[in-house]
Amino acid sequence: MSRKIALDRPLLQENIHHAGRIRALLERHRVTAFNLVSSPGSGKTSLLERTLKALAGKLNMALIAGDVSTQNDADRLKAAGGQWVRPLETGGTCHLEAAMLSGTVAQLDLPATDILFIENVGNLVCPAAYDLGEHEKIVLISTVEGDDKPLKYPVMFRNASVMVINKIDLLGLTEFSLATVKENAFLINPDLRVFELSCRTGEGLSAWFDWLQQRVARVRGTESGHG
Ligand code: MG
Ligand code: ZN
Repeated sequence: MSRKIALDRPLLQENIHHAGRIRALLERHRVTAFNLVSSPGSGKTSLLERTLKALAGKLNMALIAGDVSTQNDADRLKAAGGQWVRPLETGGTCHLEAAMLSGTVAQLDLPATDILFIENVGNLVCPAAYDLGEHEKIVLISTVEGDDKPLKYPVMFRNASVMVINKIDLLGLTEFSLATVKENAFLINPDLRVFELSCRTGEGLSAWFDWLQQRVARVRGTESGHG
């Protein structure tokens, strides 16, 4: 175990360096960046589809869709109206690293961008360790998963600032308890902001959209305009 950590350290140091460069670039252009993480199938792509459709015309949104070996999610998101969707195949790697992103981020029209969404690879383990220069790490969990996931993947739930509970339309059909998942999550991270929603029915999405717009306004600086 200690040997593995020693081997990984230079990689993580290099990642911190690249993440810092991305963060500086985003900050210069006041772009708000979100890193979406979850297990496979929790609904990251569905949430982004809904968001692109709902906020089109209100915010300019760029999106980098990470996938191990396909561009399927990126294609879905382009079809949802994401004009600035960029696929990023990791070539087998089970997480995104800042160095993989920096070229793509530099090619975006950052002065015209309000939000950058980064859809990470579906995996709750190593994406927790890689800062991508984002403002917020957003962890999704759905009601068809175990409500003990925050306890099984504590590093991810500790490093995230937002937890989205998706598929609430299926509550009652599984053993998943909203109260239990929140209790478990707050044990790990009492400061988590929580959204409960269903990308299928649309329930709960308006609170998510409102928060995104508030978050962008904060980064843009409401009192200093859009300079
Ligand atoms: Mg996806
Ligand atoms: Zn990995």
